[in-house]
Parts: sequence; structure tokens; C-alpha cells
Amino acid sequence: MTQELHTDIVILGGGIAGLWLLNRVRQQGFDAVLLEKHALGGGQTIASQGIIHGGLKYALSGVLSPASSAIAGMPERWRQCLRGEADVDLRECRLLAPHYFMWSSGGVRSRLKSFLGSKALRGRIDALSPSRYPEFLRDQSLSGTLYQLTDFVVDTPSLLQTLAAPHKDRIFRTGDTPVQLQANEDGSVARLNLQTDEGQISLKAHRYLLCAGEGNGPLLQQMQIAQPAMQTRPLHMLAMHTVHPHPVYLHCIGDSFGMTPLLTITSHPQPDGSWVWYLGGEIAESGMQRSEDEQIAVGKRELKRLFPWVDVDTARWCGFHINRAEPRLPNLQRPDTAYLHSQQNLMLCWPTKLTLSPELGDAVMSALQKQGIAPRIPAPGQNAAQQLSKYFPAPEVSAPRWEGLLP
Ligand SMILES: Cc1cc2nc3c(=O)[nH]c(=O)nc-3n(C[C@H](O)[C@H](O)[C@H](O)COP(=O)(O)OP(=O)(O)OC[C@H]3O[C@@H](n4cnc5c(N)ncnc54)[C@H](O)[C@@H]3O)c2cc1C
Repeated sequence: MTQELHTDIVILGGGIAGLWLLNRVRQQGFDAVLLEKHALGGGQTIASQGIIHGGLKYALSGVLSPASSAIAGMPERWRQCLRGEADVDLRECRLLAPHYFMWSSGGVRSRLKSFLGSKALRGRIDALSPSRYPEFLRDQSLSGTLYQLTDFVVDTPSLLQTLAAPHKDRIFRTGDTPVQLQANEDGSVARLNLQTDEGQISLKAHRYLLCAGEGNGPLLQQMQIAQPAMQTRPLHMLAMHTVHPHPVYLHCIGDSFGMTPLLTITSHPQPDGSWVWYLGGEIAESGMQRSEDEQIAVGKRELKRLFPWVDVDTARWCGFHINRAEPRLPNLQRPDTAYLHSQQNLMLCWPTKLTLSPELGDAVMSALQKQGIAPRIPAPGQNAAQQLSKYFPAPEVSAPRWEGLLP
């Protein structure tokens, strides 16, 4: 027996994109449900470093690209949300660090230094005197210059929790249940089919939002959509569990102009007061061909070189692979804005960065308005969320990626 359910909007995927959009559409009065395959944020979001950034790292090539300008307003937009003054209420979200730093370590790089000190970057970067260094670097004789950026770091589990909490009754874990988008002849979505022990559920909506990160690829295939397509960028991240007392929130940049900092470090508190330092940046991009042991050896070598006062040998380390998922651009270029593609009643969404979620939210809301999609009142007995709750539980927030991997 097939049970037919109706709602305004179905969101597939419970990472930052899906949860952010659920908040936006619910706030506008839309009837909406979100279906998550496993755990909330369990794809890229929980693996992200949580840096809400103003794009300055994209200016390290020495050029203020449109990307770095478009993203410049994002930290302030997020701060408004964190104060409860904007469209998404993040007052309960925990901040890990109110500032993020960038260290250009020694060497002769006067061109880079003069660029970072240039008028074009005023207000976006602040060269610090040693008395203003964060605790981790204080009293160390640092060569080079330490900059404070407008960037800050959010605790991603807390972010996911904060976004999910007001809408728990609308978020469902489908687990291994096959979720199938069925296409009409004109290429629009006819319905979303879910198989349960008691029969099939056919979910019909005005709009279907694909927010499944890497899972958008298979969903596009189901719909037989070849264009737009997805690209993935693989990373080999490192995590180090340390008893060093201070957290680090720092881009370490090398000698040359380049798009990616050598190392991008964030720190994540553990229940016993210790820290996990999480390492990305160029090391994660170039480390794809290395085994885990080789990647750890490179991580140790770099940290010893940069911070000789930290004991990295007795720390516990792990490495893991994770893909960034985004729209495929010519020559595998990196997208520099949030991505939304509307095709009939389907919206394909990739925020491309945690930071750009507000931009994605604006794009979706404006597309809904332009397409004349307004909230409707569900007919009696047609409350899709209530019916779905009979078959599907609420998903948990994902555990950090290093949990269970650190020896
Ligand atoms: C290592 C790393 C570090 C990063 N650091 C930063 C950073 O510091 N700052 C920043 O701004 N950005 C960062 N990013 C980018 C950012 O994390 C991503 O752009 C963002 O998290 C993508 O969110 P998403 O919701 O689109 O996808 P995801 O977080 O991947 O969520 C997709 C969800 O969809 C679910 N799903 C998959 N298939 C289906 C299906 N068929 N049905 C239902 N659900 C499904 C998955 O289980 C998953 O929960 C980083 C990315 C990586 C990989």
C-alpha cells in the first residue's frame, strides 16, 4: 500500500546546508521536512574546521579576487546570527575562538608583507605586537609577523545542535531505507519514494532541495541529470590529541604567494581539558598520495619546525580522508560563492564553504519568491512530519571524525 504525503518543501541532507535552509524556510512559514541518511553533519560539516572566514586566505596569491571580496561580509553576518539579530538564531552556538590568526613566519617575503599591510586589506587584517599575541605564541621568540583576521571559529557539533533543536519534529533519519527521487517526463521531480516495512511512502512537495553534499551526485544520477555535475576535492586531514595546555587557531603561511596556507590549525576541547589539534591546509591537499603513517610523519615534522616548544612525539595522532563536494567547474576550478541551481521543482545546493551558508540561504529564499512558491496550510490529516515520525527516528548529531580513530 502506498501512503501519499504532501509538504511544501523536502530537504535531502542534514549538514550545514540542509539545516540552515530548514531554519530559513520554517521561519517564512513553509511546511518542510528534512531527511538525513545517517547523522547530522556526518559528511563534510563535522569534518570542517569551523572557521568562519572573510576570505583573506584567498588573497594570499596577492590579488583581491571577487571571491575574497564576496565573502568578506560573512563573518559579520554570522556574528549577527550569533547575537540573535539575524534570520537564523545561533545564540546557543558555542564559539571555539573569537579570533583567527595568520602567521607569516620569517624569511624574505617583503612583497607578501607589503601586500598584507596594503590599504586594500585595511580593516580585514591587523598586524599584532607581541603583547597582543594569543597565549600559545606569547613569550615565544617568533620570527615574521602575526596577523589577526576578522575570522573566528565555531564548534561544529554545537552549531548543528543549535540549528536542529527548534525543528526536531521535522528532521528524520532514513538510515538504510531506499530514498528514491522519481522523475516526470519533463525532468521535474514527481515524488520522493520511501520504502518502509509497512509499505511505500510517496512524498510530494512544491520544491525538493538537494543538500546532500557528496550524496547530491547519486541523487542527480537518479534524476538522470548530467549537467550541472559534481566535483570532489579529496583531503588527507590530521588530528593530534595533545596535553599541551593551549589551543591554536592559526594559518601558517609559507615563503611564497600561494592560494592555500601551509598549515591551517584549529583546536577542539576534550572533556578532560586536553585538546585535539586539527590540521588542514596545503598539507591535507598534497597528502593524498601519502599513507596515514607518512602523513603523520609530515605533520610531526612541520609542527616541530614551526613550534619547537611543543611535544608532538608523545601526542596521539590519526589521519583520515574526506572529500569536499561542490559543483564541477571548468578546469576543476574552485567555486568561490555558494551554489544554487534551480531546475523545475528541484534546487541543487552546495554552500561550498560553511562560511557561505547565509549566502546560500538568501539565494534559496529569493529563488522561492521569484518562482512564486508560498507557504500553504496542510489539509487535515496531511501533516507529513507527523506521519513520517511514525517510521523514522530523529538523527543524532555526528561525532567528530577523529573519534574512534585516535589510538
Ligand atoms: C576537511 C574540511 C575542512 C573544511 N573547513 C572549512 C572551514 O573551516 N570553513 C568553511 O567555511 N568551510 C569549510 N569546509 C567546507 C564545508 O565543510 C562544506 O562546504 C560544508 O560543510 C558542506 O555542507 P553540506 O551541508 O553541503 O554537506 P555535508 O556536510 O556533507 O552534508 C550532507 C549530508 O547529506 C547526507 N546525505 C547524503 N546522501 C543523502 C541522501 N541520499 N539522503 C539524505 N541525506 C543524505 C549526509 O549524510 C550528510 O549528513 C571544510 C570542508 C572539509 C572537507
